Amino acid sequence: MNFFPLFHNTKQLKALLIGGGTVAKRRVKSLVEAGIACDLIATAVAEGVTELVEGAGGNVTIGAYTSDEAMLGYNLILALTDNRSVNHQVATDAKAMGLLVNVADFPDDGNIIFGAIIDRAPLTIAINNGGASPVLSSILRQQLEQFVPKAYGQLARLVGAYRTRVKEALPSTTERSIFWHQVLQGPVAEAVFSGKHSEAESLLKTHLREANNGLDKVMSNGEVFLIGAGPGDPDLLTLRAFRLLQKADVVLYDALVSDGVMALVPESVERVYVGKRRANHSVPQTGINQLLVDYAKQGKRVARLKGGDPFIFGRGGEEIETLAEQHVPFQVVPGITAASGCSAYSGIPLTHRNYAQSVRFVTGQLRDGSVDLPWPELVVEGQTLVFYMGLKGLPIICERLISNGMDEKMPVALIEKGTTQDQRVLVSELGQLPTIIKEEQVMSPSLFVVGRVVSLHDKLAWFTSSRDV
Ligand code: SAH
Repeated sequence: MNFFPLFHNTKQLKALLIGGGTVAKRRVKSLVEAGIACDLIATAVAEGVTELVEGAGGNVTIGAYTSDEAMLGYNLILALTDNRSVNHQVATDAKAMGLLVNVADFPDDGNIIFGAIIDRAPLTIAINNGGASPVLSSILRQQLEQFVPKAYGQLARLVGAYRTRVKEALPSTTERSIFWHQVLQGPVAEAVFSGKHSEAESLLKTHLREANNGLDKVMSNGEVFLIGAGPGDPDLLTLRAFRLLQKADVVLYDALVSDGVMALVPESVERVYVGKRRANHSVPQTGINQLLVDYAKQGKRVARLKGGDPFIFGRGGEEIETLAEQHVPFQVVPGITAASGCSAYSGIPLTHRNYAQSVRFVTGQLRDGSVDLPWPELVVEGQTLVFYMGLKGLPIICERLISNGMDEKMPVALIEKGTTQDQRVLVSELGQLPTIIKEEQVMSPSLFVVGRVVSLHDKLAWFTSSRDV
């Protein structure tokens, strides 16, 4: 390793930049952000450079670098001119004076380099590859950005404020290390990530109190992540859903959670199927609610994965009601609901300036053999209707819409297994749909879309599933 990462207290640094082009401009910005005082010498400066330097209280001198005297009083030098031999001279002089020096494009001429930074102050992650490829570092930074929640900085601040207190309460290093692992990977961290700051702090205080009575008692309560798994395509999972799946101990999932999403659950995580479709294994809703509580009370991190969005026809509300009653910590991660997924992947916008100013999600589930819906409210021009769970009741739905005044020729679409490789989109007219269903043997899960927006499908369809080719 030629470049060892060191984290310098920037408040003590005074930098001199030699050169005034676009690289200098970028550097001034990041140095000033880090609280470093900057002066600059250059024969010419790019637009905006002088304003940046002077705006931060520094001086710009127009002129050439002539001798090492220019460096007196500085401890960080940046050689950024477009003349390699000048840069080389600057670096040689700076090193002879024992200063920190960076040379643009020639890392080995200097003695420090700048890395790509993920800033979650006070937490910072710096990436360096010895100057071999700044672009590579930047690509890696973008990838890491997704896995480091923005709230890590807040977490660092919170635990930083308790560092001394914890040290006093738990003198043994091993105990302290266990304690901090529990805090930083458990409910305290999750409370911060989901925006519950005061809860995070009170949890931390409780855990510290409990830690004094023995660490095995700490964090005996698990937590539940109620996660929307989206409509099928695993790429539609949110970053938070993905992150929480990686840290779960057990996953409870439904029939609607696709195999692609399940493939993103680590091998080591216990899987419990609680879906309703596979005959012998169905677990009643009250059983699922209790199961979540039981697992959490065993101290497990439970991921409850539900198709689409957990709060849209997903009974997610009922599940967390039980958790709330039993004081089990939980958080809810939204997912892409079937209507959004199917709309996007079938090229049928749910609203459109010319066709629909509102959209209504409706459950088409039969209750006692009939579909009980406020029909006159549904038969309104300029409104798109999306029926979930309506396959069985579809003939009745179509008939009622028509008898309540909807145009028989209203465009409709049935989207089967939307967003997956098996997606099928059947476009028709309201009056024709019952016949189509009989002929085409539509499978579950399917979504029924009614409205003028369906006419856009021909023009806007972009996604091809294996059934379209
Ligand atoms: N919480 C889920 C909906 C659960 S209700 C969500 O937000 O999407 C189940 C109904 O959703 C199914 O009967 C079907 O109408 C619809 N659905 C779910 N996934 C679907 C998919 N991939 N394609 C078409 N419809 C889907």
